[in-house]
Amino acid sequence: MPHYDVIVVGGGVMGSATAYHLAKRGRRVLLLEQFAIGHDRGSSHGHSRIIRLAYDAPDYVRLAQAAFPLWRALEHEAGADLLLQTGGLDYALPGTPTFETTRATLTALGIEFEQLDRAAIGQRFPQFQLPDEILGIYQRDSGILDANRCVATLAAQARRHGADLRENEPARQLRAAGAGVEVRTDTASYAADRLVVTAGAWARPLLRQLGLDLPLTVTREQVAFFAPRNADGGSGDPDQFAPGRFPIFIHHATEGPAAYGFPIFGLPGVKLAYHQRGPVVEPESEERATDASITAALHDYLSRWIPGAAGDLLFSQTCRYTNTPDEHFIIDQHPEYPQIAIGSPCSGHGFKFGVLIGSILADLAERGTTEHPIGMFAIERF
Ligand SMILES: Cc1cc2nc3c(=O)[nH]c(=O)nc-3n(C[C@H](O)[C@H](O)[C@H](O)COP(=O)(O)OP(=O)(O)OC[C@H]3O[C@@H](n4cnc5c(N)ncnc54)[C@H](O)[C@@H]3O)c2cc1C
Repeated sequence: MPHYDVIVVGGGVMGSATAYHLAKRGRRVLLLEQFAIGHDRGSSHGHSRIIRLAYDAPDYVRLAQAAFPLWRALEHEAGADLLLQTGGLDYALPGTPTFETTRATLTALGIEFEQLDRAAIGQRFPQFQLPDEILGIYQRDSGILDANRCVATLAAQARRHGADLRENEPARQLRAAGAGVEVRTDTASYAADRLVVTAGAWARPLLRQLGLDLPLTVTREQVAFFAPRNADGGSGDPDQFAPGRFPIFIHHATEGPAAYGFPIFGLPGVKLAYHQRGPVVEPESEERATDASITAALHDYLSRWIPGAAGDLLFSQTCRYTNTPDEHFIIDQHPEYPQIAIGSPCSGHGFKFGVLIGSILADLAERGTTEHPIGMFAIERF
């Protein structure tokens, strides 16, 4: 049976990053991915993901501070453009809990940001049509990660450092074997000293094989890209939504899901989505159709708040969230088998940390601990 230092199961952003760091540290790594790397059935595909320091909980800010330089280092190492800094605008009505805690957290941690009222937002970003009472936070470090390119780069660099990446080879059976592990696929069995499970939406059934039933639910979420339009309904000016003139944005809602969006990047339209609006689906579900009622709601949102972006629908796509009950991640060792680390249920906001989570999972696989603050992601909280 081939023997590795570490087997990683799941080659989305988390698994590719884990394999990358382990291989770079000189470990013999096998990464098993059930489909092709970069496929569109999980959570890591698409043109863009938000990266930001502006978070409500201090440890996410600290983790984001650690993730930024790792993405930049990866860009440098691979000669790839992955991260475009655009600045980020959060806005909400006064008293909106996630907005207020984000503002308090940034202040407490000494992160520079600007507080903008409606007039100041309108002056800087006239594309928004917001109510008088609205409050904004502008944080200049926020930006966009080119998601497809990030995953492809992590996987390519993992290979370059010697990792063995096997695509279209699902792990069928995971087993603790003494102090190590064994993994069986349709074509082979592999042994390793350590196992890292980064299986995203498929994690729950897979981890049940290891006696662990985590309270994860999978939702099918939807993003849509809309063409700019002008006041009489004709084609609008795409330049007004270009990075540099238009920020990534998050609208913190008092009720209902938050909306978030991007400047034009990757496709010729403004991308908009609701956070956690989609239906719960089975992990094995192959259903990926978009829902016209969600697309219509997104268009209505733009008509009301960013009318110059409310043109024709250009493209819509689904993607899956793997949610925990408190929306925090799970990054931990298996409670019974310390040779197994788990790290990917990221409740729809994990991509920005992907390169860092890979490094943390590599730490857990190598030495069972990490210097990064992951206490709030422990399994024992459930
Ligand atoms: C619409 C949408 C918008 C998002 N926006 C943002 C954002 O703006 N900012 C942000 O930070 N995050 C965002 N996220 C969240 C982020 O994309 C995810 O947290 C992240 O991609 C999760 O990566 P993953 O590697 O855990 O999961 P996945 O990418 O799903 O990877 C898991 C992999 O495991 C493989 N696998 C499963 N079972 C097996 C098996 N038995 N054998 C082999 N392989 C297996 C799967 O095929 C899959 O490739 C968004 C997510 C979605 C869906």
